[in-house]
Amino acid sequence: MQVDYLIIGQGISGTWLSYYLQKEGKSFLVIDNNSTNSSSKIAAGIINPVTGRRHVEVWMAEEILPYAWHAYHQIGIELNIPAISQKNIIEFFPSPQMRVSFLQRIEEKNQYVHSYPEQNHFNSFFKYDFGCGEIKPVYIAHIETLLPAWRQQLIIKKLLLEEEFEINDLEVFPDNIIYKNISASAIIFCDGNSSTNNPYFNLLPFAPNKGEVLIVEIPDLPQTTIYKKGMMLVPLATPGLWWVGSTYAWKFENAEPTTEFREKTESLLKDWLKIPFSIVAHLSGVRPATLERRPFVGFHPLHTNIGILNGMGTKGCSLAPFFAKQLADHLCYNKILNPEADIKRFQKILSRKVS
Ligand SMILES: Cc1cc2nc3c(=O)[nH]c(=O)nc-3n(C[C@H](O)[C@H](O)[C@H](O)COP(=O)(O)OP(=O)(O)OC[C@H]3O[C@@H](n4cnc5c(N)ncnc54)[C@H](O)[C@@H]3O)c2cc1C
Repeated sequence: MQVDYLIIGQGISGTWLSYYLQKEGKSFLVIDNNSTNSSSKIAAGIINPVTGRRHVEVWMAEEILPYAWHAYHQIGIELNIPAISQKNIIEFFPSPQMRVSFLQRIEEKNQYVHSYPEQNHFNSFFKYDFGCGEIKPVYIAHIETLLPAWRQQLIIKKLLLEEEFEINDLEVFPDNIIYKNISASAIIFCDGNSSTNNPYFNLLPFAPNKGEVLIVEIPDLPQTTIYKKGMMLVPLATPGLWWVGSTYAWKFENAEPTTEFREKTESLLKDWLKIPFSIVAHLSGVRPATLERRPFVGFHPLHTNIGILNGMGTKGCSLAPFFAKQLADHLCYNKILNPEADIKRFQKILSRKVS
């Protein structure tokens, strides 16, 4: 079998890359092992313009957020699914200091941070003593709907192999790559944390980061916004279901859920909610994060037919469509990649002998 590109992984990165390559009329095959705990299957899908306690604007917010909104909207139309919706964040201040800090951001004219006029509006659902504010616009990418819908398209068109990719079976030649019975001009790894064990890319400064999540049922809470008080409470596509999370652990023994998180989060919900809830599931996953918090996009300096779209960290839902399009344009029209994302910045490290 001969294709232009072999793509490894159908998380949010592989989904968007295959989408844009298809738009360009390129032939490709995706190999994905359908792992149940990949980062994309655990993410809430939040596309948030600010980050951290100080509500600092995220990297490239003004370019990437509107891009993501249009991209998800468009793929949603094509697949006939709701792929994105706007759900602003109502942030309940956990302390008077946090309230002061939030109000300061408003005074500084942070364009995403706003006061909330009806301070008592959420009184029947939540206990909160120090008021609330609003972050907007915030979007939710419905990746729990999008990923299976795109997968289904790939399966129908016979463009997906559901199996484990084995790096030892990859043969790399100057003008093409061969994997089992597949020959392609290039192979592109969109395989999340698996790339940390990939001999071509294991020298990149990955910094995997574990996150845990509870899925809870709160039948009486209106699913019109995201709520935040330390943790985020994010409405899921299924009526009544909410995603609660998450933690950020740089050091961890394994990727399994912990009793500590479950107990702590359950107790936080008991203190915060005035209405009944029940825990439906407890999940955990590892984000393919990077030391300098920028994605890895582009081609290996020595093996120019081996590429990567990875390192999306905590922001895969916003970054993946934008950088998948850049990579597709780079492949099809030789357009340059954003230098902060292009793996050319690691040329020296990657030029060491592949082990
Ligand atoms: C708890 C948690 C909450 C998060 N919340 C958000 C959020 O709200 N917003 C946001 O933007 N981001 C969020 N993220 C981060 C987001 O999930 C990631 O940035 C993103 O999903 C990474 O996508 P990816 O496609 O690059 O990698 P992955 O999602 O890891 O996808 C890789 C794919 O490759 C497949 N694969 C791997 N190895 C192989 C192999 N050898 N053979 C075949 N297939 C293989 C896997 O099965 C998977 O399908 C969260 C992450 C976690 C853990």
